[in-house]
Amino acid sequence: MLFDILTLFPAMFDGAFTDSIIKRAVDKGLVSVDIHNIRDYSGDVKHQTVDDYPYGGDAGMLMKPEPLAAAIRAAKERLDGRNPTVVYLTPAGRLLNQDTVKELSAKESLILLCGRYKGIDQRVIDSYVDMEVSIGDYVLSGGEIPAMAVVDAVTRLIPGVLSNIDSAETDSFHNGLLSHPHYTRPEVFEGIKVPEVLISGHHANIRGWQKQKSLELTKARRPDLLNGAGID
Ligand code: SAM
Repeated sequence: MLFDILTLFPAMFDGAFTDSIIKRAVDKGLVSVDIHNIRDYSGDVKHQTVDDYPYGGDAGMLMKPEPLAAAIRAAKERLDGRNPTVVYLTPAGRLLNQDTVKELSAKESLILLCGRYKGIDQRVIDSYVDMEVSIGDYVLSGGEIPAMAVVDAVTRLIPGVLSNIDSAETDSFHNGLLSHPHYTRPEVFEGIKVPEVLISGHHANIRGWQKQKSLELTKARRPDLLNGAGID
C-alpha cells in the first residue's frame, strides 16, 4: 500500500510513522508513506498563497482550488500505474469504521488530502476526490490527524504487517463485536484475580468465555453493533 499525503503542515507527521507497527511495515516494504506540502503547488512563487475568502461572505478562509488540483495531479503522476484513490478527510465524509478501513486496505494506493481553515473549494471535491472520509462527529483544525488515523488503521490490515501476537482477528469490530477483556501477569493485582477460566488451560472454555464477554460488552456499550451483526 502506498500512501501519498497532501498537507499544508508536513511537520505534523514527523515521528508519526517512525515507531512500532507502521515502522516495521515500512521497513518490510509493505507500505510506504510520502508526505507532500500543498504550498509547493501554489504556483505563486513569491507568496505561496493557498487560501482565499469564500464567496457568499462566510467567515474564515478556504483552500484555493488551483494548488489542490496541482498537488493531486502530481500525486497521481507519482502513483502512476498504482490506481490511486483520492480520499478527502472531512467531517462530511463517510464514517471511518472498520468496514471503511477494510475497503481502503484493499486499494493499491491512497492519496490522502488534508483540509485546513474552513475546508476546500467544492469544485476540487467534485472533480478530483473519489471518497470523503470522516473520523467522527467533531471538528478538528485540519485533516492531518484523520490522515494519521487512516494510515494506522489501514496498515494494520495489510497482509504481513501484523504478527500473530498483534493479530487483528482478536481486535474489536473484526467480527462485528467489541473485543473481550484482556489480562496479563501478575495473576493477582491489587487483590483482583485473573478470571479462573483463563488460567485453566481449557481452550474451548476460554474461547467460550471470550465470546460471552465480547457479547456482554457489546450489548452493554454498543447494541447497535449487535443489530448490524444480526445478533439480538
Ligand atoms: N468547515 C468544515 C465543516 O464544517 O465541515 C470544517 C473545516 S475543519 C476546521 C478543517 C479541516 O479539518 C477539514 O477540511 C478537514 O480536512 C479536517 N477535519 C476536521 N474534522 C474532521 C473530521 N471529523 N474528520 C475528517 N477530517 C476532519
